Amino acid sequence: MIPIARPQMGAEEKELVWSALESGSLAQGARVRELEERFAAFTGVPHGVATSSGTTALHLALLGYGIGEGDEVITVPYTFIASATSILYTGARPAFVDVDERTFNIDPDLVEAAITPRTRAIMPVSLYGQVADMPAIAAIAERHGLAVIEDAAQSHGAAIGERRSGTWGAGCFSFYPTKNMTTGEGGMITTADGELAERLRLLREHGMKVRYHHDTLGYNFRMTDIHASIGLAQLTKLPGYNERRRAIAARYDADLRGVITPYVAPGHVHVYHQYTIRVAQRDAFADRLRERGVGSGIYYPIPVHHQKPFVALGYGDQRFPITDRLTEQVLSIPVHPSLTDAEVDIVVEAVNATADELGHLAVEVPT
Ligand SMILES: *Cc1c(COP(=O)(O)O)cnc(C)c1O
Repeated sequence: MIPIARPQMGAEEKELVWSALESGSLAQGARVRELEERFAAFTGVPHGVATSSGTTALHLALLGYGIGEGDEVITVPYTFIASATSILYTGARPAFVDVDERTFNIDPDLVEAAITPRTRAIMPVSLYGQVADMPAIAAIAERHGLAVIEDAAQSHGAAIGERRSGTWGAGCFSFYPTKNMTTGEGGMITTADGELAERLRLLREHGMKVRYHHDTLGYNFRMTDIHASIGLAQLTKLPGYNERRRAIAARYDADLRGVITPYVAPGHVHVYHQYTIRVAQRDAFADRLRERGVGSGIYYPIPVHHQKPFVALGYGDQRFPITDRLTEQVLSIPVHPSLTDAEVDIVVEAVNATADELGHLAVEVPT
């Protein structure tokens, strides 16, 4: 079976982890600082604040902007649940808006209508490795005095032109094993805002600048030097990983038939955290692929507003037609950098044969 994800750990990771263990610096120390500096430089901003996960990065960014009880944050229901639960953790409420059918990302045209006197921030998600329309979102945020928090958990190195994901407002990355680079568990907030970065560091570590003097209610959202060591090796490999993902995607774009392949907005550099196609009879399609030795993934089978914690809060009756349609049609096929050319051939043949069996998808996608 060709798996949907296959993290690659090599001699460089082992060497760095081993030297961290031998140094005795296990919790947040020099390796975390080095990863912060290098990841911020890679992204193109002056500040990086490492965290224990992508989820704590989102939570911390919201806290850093002072978001809490009584506030609203605009985001999408077509995402991993952490985008929205991080908002709940602060006491604020997500206000959902639907996505654009082509890009799978927040539809900027729907955002202004969702702004209320309680709105404090907009949290677009750069899903599957394509940056959300951040210039449009940043312009709306600027007009209304709102913070911008990009959920960049899937978009390490993605860009619009030369400008990378994570350079608008606060960018929140995840280093979970299936992401474009990993630390095991881990996350990072990138920002050009030095005052924000300082607040984030304070809140990340028990509200403490001077040891055991606590200035505010803080948290323990730290990364360890052990995890950062894995990340340093991975970050060196990230550009090569992303190039391999893009090359595999180009092959799929050229050779897949009878399915809707991913749309790349003009000027965007897509890094294909997922290569997500739209197919007829999706669940049967996934079964047939498995019979042909190809693993696949559904991201996500249930939109956030239909997940139980959100139904319990009264979100269940809200309607997001594009999210609903995509939820029934999307299927992600293997695109990870460790795929061999022979495996890519197998995926192409399996997808095309399955589309011929189950019917081609003919959806009118607006252009
Ligand atoms: C992975 C992911 C997260 C959460 O990151 P963790 O590191 O798993 O906590 C948040 N949002 C999106 C869109 C993700 O894909």
